[in-house]
Amino acid sequence: MVEALEVHKSYGRVEVLKGITLKVMPGEVMCLIGPSGSGKSTFLRCINHLEKINAGRLSVDGALVGYRERGDRLHELREREVAGQRTEIGMVFQRFNLFPHMTALENITEAPIRVKREPKDAARAHARELLEKVGLGDRAGAYPNQLSGGQQQRVAIARALAMQPKLMLFDEPTSALDPELVGDVLAVMRQLADDGMTMIVVTHEMGFAREVGDAVVFMDGGVVVESGDPREVLTDPRHERTRSFLSKVL
Ligand code: ADP
Ligand code: MG
Repeated sequence: MVEALEVHKSYGRVEVLKGITLKVMPGEVMCLIGPSGSGKSTFLRCINHLEKINAGRLSVDGALVGYRERGDRLHELREREVAGQRTEIGMVFQRFNLFPHMTALENITEAPIRVKREPKDAARAHARELLEKVGLGDRAGAYPNQLSGGQQQRVAIARALAMQPKLMLFDEPTSALDPELVGDVLAVMRQLADDGMTMIVVTHEMGFAREVGDAVVFMDGGVVVESGDPREVLTDPRHERTRSFLSKVL
């Protein structure tokens, strides 16, 4: 579903991704861990067209991100085509960025109605199903400021799912939450994983990585230091850098 081959990304002269190579198979949950500044968010942003890579190859479901191959030439996609690729990827950020002037239901139906031109009734019915799924069936009419951080984050997940993405990216989805609200959000993510969604999850929740992750990737300084089965990487890392990081977060 995701294939990165020697992906490089620089901001000005500062190289932030120094040759990232990894694969995520359909239905797999990959947990991306590593210290602050190691390039985790940048990597997710490259997958979701928020940043452009400088070198290497990056593809989602077999299609190059932002480019089309014709023979041995690459053509940059037009804006409309990029938008098409982006609708296939859902993203949930650390800060719940719901539209404050819209209800939970309206937040969820906005993109399907405006971008996908779904009929309003169908979009609303689907949104209600999604709200049930994230445990907020009774909060359809609530505005973001009437919801807890954890509830807002679950609406954000429902909103991403409303576009029927084939890939979900999570960037520290529980880091901004009060501790007692983290569990409900992780439970929704775990359910999504059980339903077979392909997910890349940047997280410091090592319990989640161990129990839900099919693979864990440890990044530091813009490179993948090590990756593999979460039970192995998290309990018996091969590299000193991984060991040292884990000793600080566990
Ligand atoms: P992480 O998510 O692992 O904490 P980031 O991907 O956010 O790391 O950042 C990696 C590095 O890139 C950091 O040193 C950060 O300061 C730098 N960086 C991130 N975004 C930008 C930007 N838009 N312009 C310049 N530098 C950036
Ligand atoms: Mg980050």
